[in-house]
Amino acid sequence: MAVPASADGGQPPSPSEVGSELERLHARIRACTLCGLHATRTRAVPGSGRVPAEVMIVGEAPGFNEDVKGLPFVGPAGRLLDTLLRQIGLSREEVYITNVLKCRPPQNRDPMPHEAEACLPYLRLQFKLVQPKAVLVLGRHALERMLPGVGPISRVHGQIFVRSGVAFMPCYHPAAALHNAALLDDLQKDFDRVREYLDRLLGEERAEPEEAAVEPGPEPTDPEPPPEAEQLSLI
Ligand code: URA
Repeated sequence: MAVPASADGGQPPSPSEVGSELERLHARIRACTLCGLHATRTRAVPGSGRVPAEVMIVGEAPGFNEDVKGLPFVGPAGRLLDTLLRQIGLSREEVYITNVLKCRPPQNRDPMPHEAEACLPYLRLQFKLVQPKAVLVLGRHALERMLPGVGPISRVHGQIFVRSGVAFMPCYHPAAALHNAALLDDLQKDFDRVREYLDRLLGEERAEPEEAAVEPGPEPTDPEPPPEAEQLSLI
């Protein structure tokens, strides 16, 4: 699938052209049979929200509720996500939400590597269409796919990894905070940092961020980042 080029050769595609392209991509995902998960899904869950959008949110995989409705983050974790977004002045209508896997793994088991590999081209295309300024990377599975090698989520959550001008911000997964209340405070602080970053970004007329710059997060030490090409297997 091509990301839309302009009809007149030079202009960037209009939001409605991008929206139509995204709808076609969603239709492809709904009909996808690239891995075995298509056999057990009720519905594929392509994603929802605005394109283009300043903020893109990437979770792990659809759960029970998402599989039934065909929409991302519509169960308990989704309600917490809505609350966290509201607390930083965002709504799900203003952002684009998707998952690494577009189909529910049976019994919500962890995604298998070959399933994530099969789904990654869809995430790449979504990323190109959404053109986010910030990507919230929810939980360790999304982190492993989007920023491989940066370290465990327990250490890098709340940090900002700028890649090709886009800020990737790992956060704990809302479902993890539902199971372990001790993580909720960290998760709220992670979202506060997202707000601060967006305020800074939107408030400043700023130069392109440096490639591969890593802003320090709440942890005092930061791992030496591997070369960008290695980290950006996804994007
Ligand atoms: N957890 C996820 O990672 N994604 C969803 O869409 C719902 C729950």
